Amino acid sequence: DVLISQIAAGEVVDRPASVVKELLENSLDAGATEITIRIDGGGIQRICIQDNGKGIPKDELELAVTRHATSKIQSLNELESVMSLGFRGEALASIASVSQFTLSSYPQGQECAYSISNHSGAWQIEPSPASPGTTIDVQSLYFSTPARRKFLKTEQTEFFHCLDVVKRMALANPAVNWLVYRDGKLQSRFQESSWSARVFSILEAMANGASKPIDVQVADMQLHGAIGLPDAARGKGDMQYFYVNGRFVKDKLINHAVRSAYEDVLHGDKFPAFVLFLNLPATEVDVNVHPAKTEVRFRNARAVHQWVRHSIQASLAPSRA
Ligand code: ADP
Ligand code: MG
Repeated sequence: DVLISQIAAGEVVDRPASVVKELLENSLDAGATEITIRIDGGGIQRICIQDNGKGIPKDELELAVTRHATSKIQSLNELESVMSLGFRGEALASIASVSQFTLSSYPQGQECAYSISNHSGAWQIEPSPASPGTTIDVQSLYFSTPARRKFLKTEQTEFFHCLDVVKRMALANPAVNWLVYRDGKLQSRFQESSWSARVFSILEAMANGASKPIDVQVADMQLHGAIGLPDAARGKGDMQYFYVNGRFVKDKLINHAVRSAYEDVLHGDKFPAFVLFLNLPATEVDVNVHPAKTEVRFRNARAVHQWVRHSIQASLAPSRA
């Protein structure tokens, strides 16, 4: 049972950045407008995320950190089939099963904050000093699963993966204040701003006219965002952000569509910087292929590819008056 939990955890949270992603998604779900992220020792030593969201009432704390879908799983086969069904309500339980975990929360109207932690081996709830919202403190990640720990890269690399996750979320949520501390020092701060100001603060190369806005809508498909112009916004391999229905994805087909549109029109660089949001009906796309991965599956991949390519071509082409 413990083994199954830890294997499940390995699937959901395979490295510190996956922990950060799950915790940040929860903070956004809770309506947070300010999120502080503290990462020590590449996240292996400590990940602490504080938000000002709606919080969790004392009598729901235990439920929030308890496994649902996998609690009755007996075998690896069963685990696999649950995974393929979209694996939700598992993140906190998974993270807690491979760390020293403390969640403190202070929902509005409650007499004080309470924390729940697993440091003593069992779940323990007690009053705690905390500010409104929720703070989750994850320490000694994978201390109980050294095999998983061996797969991690250097602290530096793991930290930058964590920072990437924050940037992805910050690009999609400009109305939120984000603060990132690395080993106690302020590393990045993204202040609440307009969408374009947020893009330019994270991808400086796209500022000052070095990118072109895109906003296309046909029937129930919408594509909006910005794409870097050649030379000015040279994107290398790490300035491509694509979101499907608000969720960051990495998809070969989509990348190909964007790149070919870009090359068709601008004959530029192989790696345009871009931040693009594709919205389409939920029935057209499965974004829950795997909890820890950034894959999507389109119902009609060819049509999506063509439409994205054409929409970008049209937006980039000099307008014919
Ligand atoms: P899921 O997000 O799929 O429901 P999680 O394990 O990530 O599963 O979280 C379990 C539950 O704990 C959430 O459904 C939510 O009710 C609560 N929760 C987790 N993080 C927060 C947070 N930062 N603020 C408020 N509630 C939270
Ligand atoms: Mg969650």
